Amino acid sequence: MSTRGDQARPLHALACLIFAFVLSFLSGRSFIRMHRAERIYPSPGLREQKRLSEYFLPIRKTQGDTDVFIFKGNKPGGNLLIIGGTHPNEPAGFVTAVLLVENIRVERGTILIIPRANASGFSHSDPQEGNPQRFYVPTPTGSRAFRLGSRLTNPVDQWPDPAIYINPAGQKLAGNEARNLNRCYPGRPNGSLTERVAFSIMELIRREEIDFGIDLHESAPEYPVINAIVFHENSAELAAMAMMELQSEGYEIRLEASPPNLRGLTHREWGDHAGIRAVLLETPNASHGRLKGRPSSSLIVDGRDKFYEKASKLGWLFVPYGKEGIPLAHRVARHLAALRALVSSFSELEPDRAIEIEGLPEAEEVRERGVGAFLHSSD
Ligand SMILES: [Zn+2]
Repeated sequence: MSTRGDQARPLHALACLIFAFVLSFLSGRSFIRMHRAERIYPSPGLREQKRLSEYFLPIRKTQGDTDVFIFKGNKPGGNLLIIGGTHPNEPAGFVTAVLLVENIRVERGTILIIPRANASGFSHSDPQEGNPQRFYVPTPTGSRAFRLGSRLTNPVDQWPDPAIYINPAGQKLAGNEARNLNRCYPGRPNGSLTERVAFSIMELIRREEIDFGIDLHESAPEYPVINAIVFHENSAELAAMAMMELQSEGYEIRLEASPPNLRGLTHREWGDHAGIRAVLLETPNASHGRLKGRPSSSLIVDGRDKFYEKASKLGWLFVPYGKEGIPLAHRVARHLAALRALVSSFSELEPDRAIEIEGLPEAEEVRERGVGAFLHSSD
């Protein structure tokens, strides 16, 4: 004889099964989408699009391979490399690179842009940080989504970390720095994925005869190296000229010499190993600082945070942080102003290798109208 309880059990089991199936489907879909890079819409000025693996074949079909956008002028000049996404949790670096790809035309010289330098880092999020997987930039026709990744290569692509990492430049570091692209230069052809990506970028620098490299970053408002140009000693004059130009436009910016004993970074190894001029730019980003409130897309895009506001009043920060926060538009504008100043200073120092860009959005306009006004509208 069956009871009501016996009849309910299969129904209950079926409901649980369906629930588990739906949950697995949704989380599986979300996981797979993390590996899919959002589309970038190059401006008509694009001359050529390559993959980084064309400079070093062994990274082909790995999560380290990434797009290289090439803008070439009709007049001969210098060759500039701009990279964003070395650290995929620093959105202004990546978004500035995307904005350049979607707007510029080069009149003189060549500019190569890699928006996602550590492509693998875009495919996961930092564990236990509660970060959103994406942030949403408003455009005139709706919001456009971008991935917020991790500072490090995805452990799915490179595992396990050593206890102590000795990088290709010979420096001893904590084990997880083995997945930090900006500690792995000049790379190793037979090394880990991150080291092979670094090696591929060095190969690109060599084969494209790059003269000057700029690496776009962000750092937390409580760190001293912020609103800064970090420069290799071969670029001291260039950085000083750019700083003066920026200050005349109302942008306060620090100059930080690349410490000779801090090895494996772009502003050190690009200069030492490839002999090119090299700088790294930092803007203030509350979303990966330690003092922030709840992480969210709006914290990234609007940049308002009451805890940083308080920290600023207490004098704990290296940048002013008011009620209005430091929005993504201001951080991207700052990168754009610095890029403009660096390119004009480089062209002044090396007139034979001058670089002329058209269509570079004005920093002031980006601050006023927002980043989305200069990006391809959402589909
Ligand atoms: Zn960084």
